[in-house]
Amino acid sequence: MKYELVCGLETHVELSTKTKIFCGCRSHFGSDPNTNCCPICIGLPGTLPKLNKEVVRYAIMAGLATHCEINLVSKMDRKNYVYPDLSKAYQISQYDLPLCKNGYVELESGKKIRIDRIHIEEDAGKLVHKGKDVLIDYNRGGVPLIEIVTCPDISSSDEAKEYIEKLQSIMRYIDVSDCKMQEGSMRCDVNISVRPEGESEFGVRTEIKNMNSITFITKAIDYEYERQVDVIKNGGKIFQETLRYLEESNSTESMRNKENANDYRYFREPDLVTIKTSKEDLEKYKSQLPEFADARFNRYIDEYGISQSDAKLLVKYKKVSDFFEKSIKGISKPKIICNLILGVIFRYIENESDKQEFNIKVSPESLNELVMLLQENKININLAKKYLGQMMETGKKVLEIIPKDSLQGISEEEVKEICKKIIDSNENAVKDYLSGKDKALKFLLGQVMKETKGKANAKFIEEHLMGLIKKA
Ligand code: ADP
Ligand code: MG
Ligand code: ZN
Repeated sequence: MKYELVCGLETHVELSTKTKIFCGCRSHFGSDPNTNCCPICIGLPGTLPKLNKEVVRYAIMAGLATHCEINLVSKMDRKNYVYPDLSKAYQISQYDLPLCKNGYVELESGKKIRIDRIHIEEDAGKLVHKGKDVLIDYNRGGVPLIEIVTCPDISSSDEAKEYIEKLQSIMRYIDVSDCKMQEGSMRCDVNISVRPEGESEFGVRTEIKNMNSITFITKAIDYEYERQVDVIKNGGKIFQETLRYLEESNSTESMRNKENANDYRYFREPDLVTIKTSKEDLEKYKSQLPEFADARFNRYIDEYGISQSDAKLLVKYKKVSDFFEKSIKGISKPKIICNLILGVIFRYIENESDKQEFNIKVSPESLNELVMLLQENKININLAKKYLGQMMETGKKVLEIIPKDSLQGISEEEVKEICKKIIDSNENAVKDYLSGKDKALKFLLGQVMKETKGKANAKFIEEHLMGLIKKA
C-alpha cells in the first residue's frame, strides 16, 4: 500500500519593530545578554503590559499579504506554562480571536496552501547551555512574534520548502521581518502524519518543534514520513507526540507527549484592552501593500525580456529588486541593468545575507548615469563593466572615474584627429546640428566614441566637436 504525506506548518516570525510588544525595550538581535530587559518584559509583580500598536499593524500587513480576513475586533489571551525561559510562567498570545484568518499562499503550481490563522504573541527568553550550566538570556523575552498556521495542505517536503521560501519573500517585501532562520527570526514547528493514498481521514500526527533551517526541515519531513510508514507497515501505531530533530543523525526523538489547548488553561489577558482596528486603518494598510515578487517576476519577463532565471534572482531580494526599479528610469533596455547587477555587482557580494541587505557603494542613480553613457554610445559594454567594478570598489560616480582612465592609451591629439575625421565624413549630421538639432551632436559623439573604442572622455569630445563645427 502507498502512503501519502500530510503536513501542516506553524511558523513563528519575529517582527522587526524597534521595540518589544508590551514595553519600550529594544527588540534588537545580538545585544549583550540581559541588556534589553525591564520589569515589564521579565514580568516583575506590579508591572502592566501595554500593546505596541506597530505590532498590530505589522501583523495585519502580514495577513493582508497572505489574503487573510482581518478581525477588526481581537484580543490577547494568557497561555499558562512553566519553563525557565518564561519568567512570568505565562505567555501573552491570542487564542480564539486571532488578528487574521483564512488566507493562503500560492505555490508555483497554482496550488494554494491555506492559512488557518495568524496571531500575535510575545517571544520567550533563550536558554544557553554552557557545559553543565544553563544560562538564561531574557533579551528575546517580549520580542513580538506572529505565528502563521497553515491547514494540513502540504503534501511533500518540496512543497514545504517552497511554502517557506514564499512566506519569507512575502514578509520581506512588506518589511515586517528579515526572516533569518539562522538567527531564529523565523522558526517552524512541523506537523506530520501519513495516510493510505485515497483515504480521507487524517492519520495521527507528530510535531517536530522549533526548526530553523529549510534544509533540515525537508530532511526531517522525509525522515518522519519514512518512520511513520515503517511503524504502520509493521503493525504499530503512531502516537501524538512532540519530537526534536537531531541534525547529526538525521532522525527524531521524543520530547514529550503532545499537550492539548486545555492543558494551557487559556484565559483572556485581563491587563490588556480589546484590540480594535477601524475600517479606515484597514484600507490604509491595504494601500500600503507593495508589488510582490511574483508580480515583478512576471513583469520583468514580459516587459523587459529578462530570462526566467535572471528575473528570479532579481526579485529574490527585495532591496535588489527596488534598486533595479530605481536605476532603470529612462533606460531603453532594462535588461542591460539586470545583467550588470547580476554579473558585476553580485560579484562583490559574498553571501545571501549581504544580498538581502544590499548595502553597496553604488546608488541606483549612479548606475543609471553609467548605463545612460552606454545607451548614448559614449562607452561600450566592456568599459561599462570595468567602470562599474571601480564604482563598487571606490564608491565614486562614473564621471569621476572616466577622465583619468579613459584617456589612458589614447592621446588628446589622436582624439582631436578622429573628431576631425568624423566631422568631415558626416556632412549631414553637421548641417543638422547647425540647424538646431542637438541630437546630431550626440550622433557625432557616438561615432567618435566608437572609433576611440570608448576610451576617450565624452565631455572633452563634445566640446572639441562643437569647437570644430563653429570654426568651420
Ligand atoms: P495545535 O494548536 O494543538 O498545535 P492545531 O490544530 O492548531 O493544533 O494544528 C497545528 C498544525 O498542525 C496546523 O498547521 C495543522 O495544519 C497541522 N495538523 C493538524 N492535523 C494534522 C494532521 N493530521 N497531519 C498533519 N498536520 C496536521
Ligand atoms: Mg502546535
Ligand atoms: Zn522591557
